[in-house]
Amino acid sequence: MRALRLALLLLLATVFAFAQSTSPSKPGPGFSIDNIDKSIDPCVDFYQYACGNWIKNSEIPADRAAWQSFSELNESNLEIEHKILEKAAAGGPGRNAIDQKIGDLYGSCMDEKAADGKGLAPLKPELDRIAAVKDKAGMIDEIAHIHLVGPNPLFNFYSNSDLHNADQVIAYIDQGGLSLPDRDYYVKDDPDKVEMRKHLAEYATTVFTLAGQSPEKAATSADTVLAVETLLAAASMDRTKRRDPKTRDHKMTREEAAALAPNFYLTRYFEDMGAPNFKELNVTNPDFFKQVNGVLAALPLDSLKTYVTWHVLRDAAPWLSQPFVEANFKMRQALTGQKKIQDRWKRCVNLVDGSLGEALGQRYVEVTFGAEGKQRMLKMVDALEKSLDNDIQGLDWMSPETKKQAKVKLQAIRNKIGYPDKWRDYSSVVIKPSDLLGNVERATEFESKRQIAKIDKPLDRDEWGMTPPEVNAYYSGSFNEIVFPAGILQPPFFDKNMDDAVNFGGIGLVIGHELTHGFDDQGRKFDPQGNLRDWWTEQDGKEFDKRVSCVADEYSNFVAVDNMKLNGRLTLGENTADNGGARVALAALEHMIADDKSGKEAQKIDGYTPEQRFFLGFGRVWCEKQRPEYLRMQVSTNPHSPGKYRVNGVVQNMPEFQKAWGCKAGQPMVAENACHVW
Ligand SMILES: [Zn+2]
Repeated sequence: MRALRLALLLLLATVFAFAQSTSPSKPGPGFSIDNIDKSIDPCVDFYQYACGNWIKNSEIPADRAAWQSFSELNESNLEIEHKILEKAAAGGPGRNAIDQKIGDLYGSCMDEKAADGKGLAPLKPELDRIAAVKDKAGMIDEIAHIHLVGPNPLFNFYSNSDLHNADQVIAYIDQGGLSLPDRDYYVKDDPDKVEMRKHLAEYATTVFTLAGQSPEKAATSADTVLAVETLLAAASMDRTKRRDPKTRDHKMTREEAAALAPNFYLTRYFEDMGAPNFKELNVTNPDFFKQVNGVLAALPLDSLKTYVTWHVLRDAAPWLSQPFVEANFKMRQALTGQKKIQDRWKRCVNLVDGSLGEALGQRYVEVTFGAEGKQRMLKMVDALEKSLDNDIQGLDWMSPETKKQAKVKLQAIRNKIGYPDKWRDYSSVVIKPSDLLGNVERATEFESKRQIAKIDKPLDRDEWGMTPPEVNAYYSGSFNEIVFPAGILQPPFFDKNMDDAVNFGGIGLVIGHELTHGFDDQGRKFDPQGNLRDWWTEQDGKEFDKRVSCVADEYSNFVAVDNMKLNGRLTLGENTADNGGARVALAALEHMIADDKSGKEAQKIDGYTPEQRFFLGFGRVWCEKQRPEYLRMQVSTNPHSPGKYRVNGVVQNMPEFQKAWGCKAGQPMVAENACHVW
C-alpha cells in the first residue's frame, strides 16, 4: 500500500508538489538583493526583476528535474539526515531501538553489492505466488497480499475521515493502478502523452526481459500492461473533476459495494486485508468500479497476471540489481528530463524518510529545531489569522450571515508547527541489516496495517501528514488545520536575521496561503469541524464562483512550456490561496508597521520600502528553473502553477503592488480586470 500516503496527500492542499533532494549550486538560499535584475522594469515582469540574477547564476544540477530557490533547503536537510543515518548504521554501543531501525534500513539500502548479487531472487517468492494463481477469485487474494506489502495494482484501499462525520475514520476504495502519472497519459493524444506511452512500453519490455522473458514475449507482456492500464485510465475520473469533494462522496454499505462490482470479490478482499468488519465505506468513484468490473470479466487470467506482475517488478525495481535500477531511472528521465541518477546515499535517505519518516524525523528535529523558531512562528500565525479575519469581515460581496460562519471556521483552524507531539511507534517493524527488499516490504506492511486499523475509530487529530524534514506545508479540510513541518521554517521562507517585511513575504505569505485553503474552491465546502457541509447562502456561493472564475480564466492564459497553457481549473485552489495569502500577509505587515512607534519597521533597507521588500521576499521564494520535460508533467498533474506565474499572476491583481512600485495602467503587471476573491 505504498501509494497510500500519497493518496492521502492528494486530499491535502500543499505549497508545492514534489520535494526532491538536491546537489549544491550557487547562490545561497536566503534573501539577497544580488538576486535582483535591475535592468528589468518591475512593472513589466516582476518575477524576472526579483529573480533575474538568481536565474542567470543558477544551474539545474544533473541529478534534478528542477532547481528552486528552496532546493538548497532540501539539500542541506539531506546532508543532515545523511549524517544521522551514517552514524546510526555504524552501530556501536549504546545504539537505541530507533537508531537500529533507521540505521539498518539505511545500511541495507547502501549495500549495492548485495543488491546486485541477489538479482531478482528477493522477488522470486512473490512472482511465484502470482504464477500459481488458479482463478480470478484467487487473484484477488494475491492482489490483497500485494496491497499489504507493496504497490497498489488495480485500485486503492485506504482509510480517511468520513466526509460527513470528520471525527470518524472510515474505509475508502478508489480508482488507481496506473504506472504513468495521470489517466490523461493513456487517453489523450498530445505528443508528450503519446511519447510517454512509448517510454512505458519500452520500460516494461526491458523489465520483463530482465525478469527472464524472451524479448518477443516481453514486448507482448508490455503491450498487455499498456492495454490494461488504458482500460483503467478510461474508467478514471480526471484530476480537475476530482477537486470537487462532492464527486468523491459515495458512501454505501459493504454489501452495496460488493454488488456494484462483483468481479472485485470485495468481501473476500477486505477479509484478506484483515480489515475490521465495517458496515459502510466510501466508494470514491463508483463508475470506476462498475466499468472495471466489466473489464475484469472480459480479461483473460493470464493478462491480469501479467499486469500484476508488472506492478510488483516496477515497484521493486529501484531496490533490485543495477539493470533494474537503470531501467527505472530511464523512465523517470523521460518524464522529468533529469540527466543523472541521484547518488545512492540520497536515494537511501529518501527511502528511510518514506518508510520510517517519524523515526528519522525525531532525530532530525533533535539537531535542527529550536523552541525559539516555534514561538516566532506562533506569533506570525496569530497575526495572519487576524488579518484574514479582517479581510473577510470587510468583503463587500459577502453577506453578514456567511461572514459569521466564516469567522467560526477561521477560529476553529488548528495549527501544527515543527513536529508531532507524539511520535509514531515503529517498534513492531522488523528491520534486518542485510535484507533490503524484505525491510521495504515489512515497513510497507506496517503502514498498511496502521491505516487499516484506523477504520471505524475516532479520528486521531494529532497525526501528521508530512515528516518533519519536509520543506512544505499543508492545509487539511477534514482536520481543518494548517501544518508547517520544521523543514520549511528556514531561509528563504523564514530568516531570523531578516527584516519582518521579507519574512512576511516568505513564510507569512505561506501561512496566509494555507489559511486561505480553508476558503478556496475545495476548502469552502467543509465546515469548521471538517464535514462536507454547505454553510454559504446561495447568493454568496454564486458571488464566490464568479470571482474564482476570474482567477481560473486569468491563469488559463499563461503559457508554461511550448504551447502548453496552464489548466486554470486544476490550479484554481492554489492560485486563489496565493492571491489571498499575499493580500492578508501584506495587510498583516502594514498593521505591524502602523503599530510600531519607533518607526523602525517603516524604514527603507537597501533602498527599498518595506512594501517593496515584501514583494521581493515573495518573488525570491519562487525563483526556479525547470527542465521542459518536467514542466510538461507539472502542467498535466500539479495543482500548483510554475513559480513565474505564482508571482506575476498574483502581483498583477494587486493595487497594493502597483502602488508600491509606481506601476501605471496598461503595464503588464497591472491587470485590466484584476481578480479578487479574498
Ligand atoms: Zn497550497
